[in-house]
Amino acid sequence: MMREAKAAAKTTGLSRRTLLLGGAGAAALLVPGVPYALWRSRNFQRPDFNPAPLAPGEWANWSGAQRITPKSIAVAQTEADIVRIVKSSPAPIRAVGSGHSFTPLVPTPGTILDIGPVSGLIAHDTAARTATLHAGTILQVAAGQLDAVGLALPNLSDIDVQTLAGLFATGTHGTGRTLAPLHDAIIGFRLIPASGEPIDVTEASDPALFAAGKVSMGTLGVMSQFTLRLVDRFALHRKLTIMPMDDLYDRIEPMSHQHRNFEILYLSGTGKAAAITHDLWQGPISGRPPSTDEDTLKGMRDLRDQFGWFPWLRRRMSEGLISSGVHEDTTDRSWKLLSTSRNTRFNEMEYHIPEANGLAALREVIATMDRRPDAFFPIEMRLTHEDDAWLSPFQGGTRMSIAIHAPAEESFQMFFDVFQPIFRRYGGRPHWGKLHTLTTADLRPLYPRFDDFRDVRRRMDPAGKFLNPFTARLFEG
Ligand SMILES: Cc1cc2nc3c(=O)[nH]c(=O)nc-3n(C[C@H](O)[C@H](O)[C@H](O)COP(=O)(O)OP(=O)(O)OC[C@H]3O[C@@H](n4cnc5c(N)ncnc54)[C@H](O)[C@@H]3O)c2cc1C
Repeated sequence: MMREAKAAAKTTGLSRRTLLLGGAGAAALLVPGVPYALWRSRNFQRPDFNPAPLAPGEWANWSGAQRITPKSIAVAQTEADIVRIVKSSPAPIRAVGSGHSFTPLVPTPGTILDIGPVSGLIAHDTAARTATLHAGTILQVAAGQLDAVGLALPNLSDIDVQTLAGLFATGTHGTGRTLAPLHDAIIGFRLIPASGEPIDVTEASDPALFAAGKVSMGTLGVMSQFTLRLVDRFALHRKLTIMPMDDLYDRIEPMSHQHRNFEILYLSGTGKAAAITHDLWQGPISGRPPSTDEDTLKGMRDLRDQFGWFPWLRRRMSEGLISSGVHEDTTDRSWKLLSTSRNTRFNEMEYHIPEANGLAALREVIATMDRRPDAFFPIEMRLTHEDDAWLSPFQGGTRMSIAIHAPAEESFQMFFDVFQPIFRRYGGRPHWGKLHTLTTADLRPLYPRFDDFRDVRRRMDPAGKFLNPFTARLFEG
């Protein structure tokens, strides 16, 4: 789609400085002193938060909520190393990518197997739009190497620091109602199962293993490479528009049809949301300016810290601080726009809701979050097209993904007590890499091919070499 190049993005995040300067004075005039003082002195840190640096031999995930000291942390430099480690290291063996999953998929009392160095583009065919990459390749590296040979993944996730193996294993997705999750690009993979003998798998060679393996959380064995079906490299036009959430509800359906990629970040407690769109672009490239997301997040935290106990005041204050309108308008290569850096660490729950229930679920989640004085992190809404991997959360129809967050150092108990029941009531399936408490009995009714997956898992790993306590709860609970 040809459009005129616009000026570089405006950098108008919520101004934290203005808030800090103006907030205390306004509060003194508008709210009773004792509740305000009590709220301001509240300590939000959860008692079990552990900021201590890792001890030798200890492992932690990105958010720090999952920590363990396994018997061994083994690093594979080559595929031959993976084979050797799978054959000889103490079980349970759990492969690790970038450790960006929130669920305890990786922690094991046995061996954590890091395949990070097994990375890079192995082969490509630009005319056929296919490429083979090592499984430990970081998404951003993969996107850059593919771009250099004229190719691209059709979509990316919010961040691009995960490994291909890790993100495929958990059904990682981006947004766009015509765009399937990232693992849908897989047309072949090499798996090192419990026997240690590598198998090259395609739909033709073993249809069941192929359909089970695309999203398999490391429970079938260790992936060493993937062959992907890609698209020609492309550029995008990105726009971020702030508007009242009440105006946006009715526009979700049309905007999701109108734009290639469409997502919403609702700014909790403020009544406002960022609508982010990406569309194909063939004009000049403006390049992406530095993101203001971190500044906006800090501003939202300050709003919560000062006025969380007074929801009407929090909303009022935010009205003056977050101006409606276009805040970003920029063009660049697809892989430079679709993903963002997330510096503030957090914990997250995300459920994928059948599209027919999505809007009602979103309304309920936002209304519930707005009633919580302690919440401030944005709520994310995305849409993903269906695919056919047996354990893909998008198997069987388009889904609306709704994600909630809490800072790494604060309690996320509300995810389980308050929000998971809402997500489940609307027929949601949990993101495999994000926090949830579901077990085999809960998951079986959500996935028509769940038992077929279990059969394949038992075929590839009869003795449970790759099952840690968490994956045992998912598949053998
Ligand atoms: C800040 C942030 C933003 C995120 N944004 C998104 C988003 O936009 N969309 C989305 O869907 N998700 C998102 N996620 C979730 C993330 O994409 C997934 O949790 C993903 O699995 C992380 O990849 P990883 O390389 O860190 O894998 P890890 O977390 O290290 O591992 C994930 C799983 O993959 C398995 N695994 C790793 N390597 C191998 C291998 N070689 N063979 C077999 N199994 C393997 C592990 O055993 C584990 O089960 C986000 C997470 C964070 C922290």
